[in-house]
Amino acid sequence: MNKKTGSFPDLRLRRLRASETIRSMLANPMPGPEKFIWPVFVVEGENIKQPIDAMPGQFRYSVDKLVDAVLEVKNMGIKAVMLFGVPPVEHKSPDASYACCPDGIVQTAVRKLKGTFSSELMVFTDICVCEYTSHGHCGLLNEKGIVENDPSLELLAKMALSHVEAGADCVAPSAMMDGQVSAIRGALDSSGFTDTLLLSYSTKFASSFYGPFREAAASSPSAGDRKGYQADYQNPRAAIRESFFDEVEGADMLMVKPSLFYLDIISTIRSESLLPIAAYNVSGEYSMLIASAQNGWGDLRLMVRESTAAIDRAGADLIISYWANQYNQLLKD
Ligand SMILES: [Zn+2]
Repeated sequence: MNKKTGSFPDLRLRRLRASETIRSMLANPMPGPEKFIWPVFVVEGENIKQPIDAMPGQFRYSVDKLVDAVLEVKNMGIKAVMLFGVPPVEHKSPDASYACCPDGIVQTAVRKLKGTFSSELMVFTDICVCEYTSHGHCGLLNEKGIVENDPSLELLAKMALSHVEAGADCVAPSAMMDGQVSAIRGALDSSGFTDTLLLSYSTKFASSFYGPFREAAASSPSAGDRKGYQADYQNPRAAIRESFFDEVEGADMLMVKPSLFYLDIISTIRSESLLPIAAYNVSGEYSMLIASAQNGWGDLRLMVRESTAAIDRAGADLIISYWANQYNQLLKD
């Protein structure tokens, strides 16, 4: 098919965008609220709604306040949240044992949310131990300070199982350990949780755009970095292979994180896999738009819509986004 028939002056492309009416008829719609998962931070205590300085509009909530916040997003049509636990320093340890505690902060929040909203809310939980290790790495360290892959798998599986026992609908492993998907799937299946979803952070880059999150979750490594396990943005083939690897291991859904700087990666995985793909619009991508708007360099609503449309267009089925709790102000038509 020749797509390039005709030329000016017989053809005039501006006819197709001459009025708001014809433009709106031809426009791809903004993704609806049901396409979003709101990532949210949970702390111990009561009556806490603590602003996160690096992420205006986002807060750390105690479980009671989380219920109110989730009710607000549910009323906008958002159907899912992703929980991140922010434990007090005294609960951090080299072996991250608190991550698996049945009465831990995430487990308690899951029970409360599922008890309140039942099947009308999908509760996703992040499965990684960097918020729970005293050293801030995503797995167990050996004596040389290197994250040991295989011993970390058992820990991640145990953490995931504790979330599912509390009622989580979907676990989302993000530690980037080889074999984490099959280890978690195996642990869930052998405990009878064959219907629980697994969303793998399958292509998660070692990115400079996680800074505000690390402030929010107090999860920076005390030494070293995460380049030994997260994907290298200068090696896109290896990063894409991570997703295929997790598909074979049994992930139900794949993820690309961050999203705006990796639209090509989302698009490639979309064309090569039939699995649903989630894109994580990360904290740095969120905060940079707010900073730009605060400086008068751009209109926040317009920038949020344009960037969200780009993630949708690249092929993401689900968008994990901090904009979700501001859906009505920023994304609703
Ligand atoms: Zn981690």
